[in-house]
Amino acid sequence: MTTANEEASTPELSFDPNKLRRKYREERDRRLRDDGNEQYVEVKGKFAHYLDDPYVEPGFTRAPLTDEVEVAVIGGGFGGLLAGARLRQAGFENIRMIDPAGDFGGTWYWNRYPGIACDIESYTYLPLLEELEYVPKEKYSYGAEILAHSQAIGRKFDLYRDVCFQTRVEDLRWDDASARWTISTNHGDRMKARFLCLATGPLNRPKLPGIPGIETFKGHSFHASRWDYAYTGGDSEGGLTGLNGKRVGIIGTGATSVQIVPHVGESAEHLYVFQRTPSSIDVKDNPPTDPEWAKSLGSGWHQHRMDNFNCLVSGVPQQEDLVNDGWTALIGKLLLSVAQGKTNDFSKEGLAKAAELADFEKMEEIRARVDSIVKDPKTAEALKPYYRQFCKRPCFHNEYLETFNRPNVTLVDTHGKGVERITETGVVVDGKEYEVDCLIYATGFEVGTDYSRRAGLDLVGRGGITLSEKWAGGTRTLHGMHVHDFPNCFIMSNAQAGFTASYPHLLNEQAKHITYILEQAKERGARTVEVSEQAEQEWIDTCIAKARDVGDFFENCTPGYYNNEGKPTERSAQDGFYGGGSVEFFGVLDAWRQEGNLEGLEVK
Ligand code: NDP
Repeated sequence: MTTANEEASTPELSFDPNKLRRKYREERDRRLRDDGNEQYVEVKGKFAHYLDDPYVEPGFTRAPLTDEVEVAVIGGGFGGLLAGARLRQAGFENIRMIDPAGDFGGTWYWNRYPGIACDIESYTYLPLLEELEYVPKEKYSYGAEILAHSQAIGRKFDLYRDVCFQTRVEDLRWDDASARWTISTNHGDRMKARFLCLATGPLNRPKLPGIPGIETFKGHSFHASRWDYAYTGGDSEGGLTGLNGKRVGIIGTGATSVQIVPHVGESAEHLYVFQRTPSSIDVKDNPPTDPEWAKSLGSGWHQHRMDNFNCLVSGVPQQEDLVNDGWTALIGKLLLSVAQGKTNDFSKEGLAKAAELADFEKMEEIRARVDSIVKDPKTAEALKPYYRQFCKRPCFHNEYLETFNRPNVTLVDTHGKGVERITETGVVVDGKEYEVDCLIYATGFEVGTDYSRRAGLDLVGRGGITLSEKWAGGTRTLHGMHVHDFPNCFIMSNAQAGFTASYPHLLNEQAKHITYILEQAKERGARTVEVSEQAEQEWIDTCIAKARDVGDFFENCTPGYYNNEGKPTERSAQDGFYGGGSVEFFGVLDAWRQEGNLEGLEVK
């Protein structure tokens, strides 16, 4: 029996699309909550110690700085490193990198939990491979290699010179008279900079679930992004001997938790995994790099591979699939259905339908994989994701599902509701308390909150307007980078910019774009570069219109940070990614540079 929105079932399919569509909707609805982003609590006050840096000695001090630099780059992760590297390549000498961490690395500095790895192919994910003449050791790099690569970039481009680590920027203030930014920090600095590049990261501020009673827990607890090896023992490769004899709870089953669970399961007396929504877990084959292949790589291989991957995961067909993994499989399925003549309606609707069918097929495979690994049928059922693959970040792991076959590991499924309560001694779900000695929060990072709060600083532009005030009604930029009333300032973020599965790809394009503009500014002897109000408004209108193209997809998704916790609105359309996708976005930037007249920017 079909309803008005449903179609008659297709006999050659091994699944019923109508049934799956209904099931996806049910799972989404069960997870929707009125409080959206408000369900999370900020890590501060009683929880502030969750943010402490475990990798440096406390109490670092230095004399305040009051000097001037040409470009200040705020953030020493991949964004800042790419900006620094591209600027150095263009001949900019006077650059200062500033970061609260004790070294370069950003995400890869802070996150060192057991099992940490990148499940996006290393040959596309790690930036500046050709410049560093480096080919990663395996198809998927572990965290330690990525951290070491970040530091190698810092050395290669001489970015350690003049760097300010363990320095938290608190205030950035524009002065029209001198056309300089003043940078105030936790060390009492009052540095000046002609240009600012903000690369504070998209997932830098850990968040906690606002579970009733969270503050009452008396056992040991920490956030996964600041792993407490002093308590657990071991290192990022595992061997967590400190957990022997301990009952451990982990809240969250996203990409971070998936990598941690096998290690904790191996060492703890008992591990309880508290799940709200299961992740999609695909295979991860991780062969070592073939030295002959590495030697055969010709000039330009890295950009070519990045583009190939990005096109494939963005649904842009390519002659070949260089990466050939779980990420690119979905588009492979879609293309196969075209090649086999199953799809012959190439209208927008026809292609959307074909993509949906390929998605159903892929997710059926993912669910069948759970059945083939997890022995207890009830646990297996609970671990099956019912949503489209790119509604949440897909995960790839070979030991995660297997861990649930261990007698000392229990999946506590909350059926989409989340943990009910935390007590002094444990975690309550469905009225039952699970006592734990240690509670680990793998609950992710702030995404939908105010930019200034996430960056941990306020930006004060012309006439004293703050960025929070300017963006009170929604993000306002040109290309996600320039903001009117904030001259000589470039923001590297994904709001109003093209979102890429491999995030450094976007950062690299932004770094090249910013470098081009600064070169132009230098050539033209510019004192200030600033977007006009009109160009800013036009870009906002474009972004809102483009967001409509992907609105339906996200509206139907299970809640998460990709769809503003299930509440895609006009406001989130303005705050979100460029809806035309990253391939189109990079094309827009490229065409803009080709024009050569800095359209929309006022150069004074
Ligand atoms: P996520 O935001 O992806 O996951 C948070 C988890 O916490 C979700 O499972 C969420 O459930 C759960 N949660 C939140 N509140 C509650 C609650 N009240 N009760 C129970 N569970 C709750 O964070 P991650 O740190 O896992 O990942 C963040 C991002 O970092 C990833 O999306 C990815 O981009 C990146 N990453 C990349 C890796 C890589 O290999 N390249 C590895 C690790 C992370 P729900 O889904 O229902 O909201």
